[in-house]
Amino acid sequence: AVIQPTNFIHQIIEQDQQQGLEKVVTRFPPEPNGYLHIGHAKSICLNFGTAEKYNGECNLRFDDTNPGKEDQEFVDAIMDDVRWLGFNWAGEVRYASNYFDTFYAWAQHLIREGKAYVCDLSPEEASEYRGWATEPGKNSPFRERSVDENLDLLERMKQGEFDEGSRVLRAKIDMTSPNMNLRDPILYRIRKASHHQTGDKWCIYPSYDFAHGQEDAIEGVTHSICTMEFADHRPLYEWFIENLPVPSKPRQYEFGRLNINYTVTSKRKLKQLVDEGHVNGWDDPRMPTIQGMRRRGYSPQAVRNFCDSLAVAKTDGTVDMAQFEFFIREDLNENAARAMCVMNPLKLVITNFPEGEVEMLSAPVHPQKEMGTRTLPFTRELYMDRGDFNEDSTLSRKKFRVLVPGDYMRLRSAYVIKAEDVIKDADGEIIEVHASLVPGTVGENPPEGMKPRGVMHWVSATEGKQATVRIYDRLFNVESPDKGEGDFLANINPDSFSEITNCWVEPDLLNAAPETGFQFEREGYFVADRYEHSPEHPVFNKTIGLRDTWKK
Ligand code: ATP
Ligand code: MG
Ligand code: MG
Repeated sequence: AVIQPTNFIHQIIEQDQQQGLEKVVTRFPPEPNGYLHIGHAKSICLNFGTAEKYNGECNLRFDDTNPGKEDQEFVDAIMDDVRWLGFNWAGEVRYASNYFDTFYAWAQHLIREGKAYVCDLSPEEASEYRGWATEPGKNSPFRERSVDENLDLLERMKQGEFDEGSRVLRAKIDMTSPNMNLRDPILYRIRKASHHQTGDKWCIYPSYDFAHGQEDAIEGVTHSICTMEFADHRPLYEWFIENLPVPSKPRQYEFGRLNINYTVTSKRKLKQLVDEGHVNGWDDPRMPTIQGMRRRGYSPQAVRNFCDSLAVAKTDGTVDMAQFEFFIREDLNENAARAMCVMNPLKLVITNFPEGEVEMLSAPVHPQKEMGTRTLPFTRELYMDRGDFNEDSTLSRKKFRVLVPGDYMRLRSAYVIKAEDVIKDADGEIIEVHASLVPGTVGENPPEGMKPRGVMHWVSATEGKQATVRIYDRLFNVESPDKGEGDFLANINPDSFSEITNCWVEPDLLNAAPETGFQFEREGYFVADRYEHSPEHPVFNKTIGLRDTWKK
């Protein structure tokens, strides 16, 4: 198990509990405008994990205030992702759009209090009036509109009387504040777009700032945990909580975003990879999306172990991909069933084993864990990997643990064999190796003087089955694909995907349930594809190699 480092959020919660806080409530608030990625997984683990740790609750809330880019497809995928990671949200799924009526009433409240006004400046003018961080802004000429006029204009904005961009509702705070977020921020904008939850009911939508803290307050969220880019928004978050008749007073805390090298964690860039066909969809096994990692064969527990191992810092950080992969490998080494797959098959004929006969050998599913045994049919014709044979019998025994003519090799969980002969085609390519088995060597040492050079995997050519194996590697071949000059797409690893259709697997593997992970002996970790694997057409995705072989 992973020891969770103490993090500052937990320290704050423990202090709050000493001050009498009874129930911790957190939320995970994705905008349904794309698929979740590994960075979101960290936020999920932090929010749901914190609620779990303190016997509180965590809500899943869709921050759906931006109808143009949002979609039900993303809502569904996000729910699937959170469940897959093993978390349960409290009660029903929530939507910011559930609260649109309340937000509207609260906007009217601010107008009545003289704290909000309808502004007719064009976006360009508004940005000029806002000024720069180093110089104060100027008040909008519309700032002193009467309460009645503001109420009337807001209502007419809501009725759809005005064009997009022609008017906004703004809070009246301070145009000279050094914090730009306080320079009369926008509360409502006109957007004549259909919404995936509210349809055409609204044509004005609240800004992120006018929505987020109020959503938290309505839901009784105690600790609203977000990423560092919102630190500058906190004074505004607090301003709304102070100036509105909210039912509770949440507090916002920020932590550093997770970035991982050799990949990108921006929804926009991930979307570009999908839209331009650089990958095969959001769930392509090379994508750092939760759907992609799942299809790649990462287990939810491995992803959680990794996220929990990370410090919760106050600055954004970049974690080495190898550190993530360590957790993937550790989990698979511990839990994945062992199996044999020959990826570059070469026929191996056991000359002293009768044709047509099948001997059922057995092997443990896992070398250490009690996971039962599997049966391995042994026949006269087998497949071995081409890379495990060499014609040069003078090769050093120490360095080359391969089958050579006249020498011994052990077949994994089966006999010791001795290579005798090779058959070549007209071009001189080896098409068969002929060997004899040493009787009585299944699970037993061979007699003196017959020491095998090594152990190799094999599959029965007559009982085994053909399978497709998809090999994935890192999607980018530089550490920081999206930093520096140029387009991040130029850093795509051209060798990140290949498909091998002529692999041979143990017959049992055909019945593997989709998403079951295996260690193919000596080859790495693989998973039965979530969507395309079937007994008729077995498909396995390479999850990761047995050890880190990435060359910088
Ligand atoms: P992106 O920048 O990739 O579009 P986002 O922040 O816009 O992500 P949201 O759907 O708004 O995406 O994010 C939901 C939650 O996940 C937010 O609380 C956000 O702060 C958090 N989050 C997003 N990306 C990361 C990350 N890389 N590391 C940690 N938390 C993240
Ligand atoms: Mg966001
Ligand atoms: Mg973002």
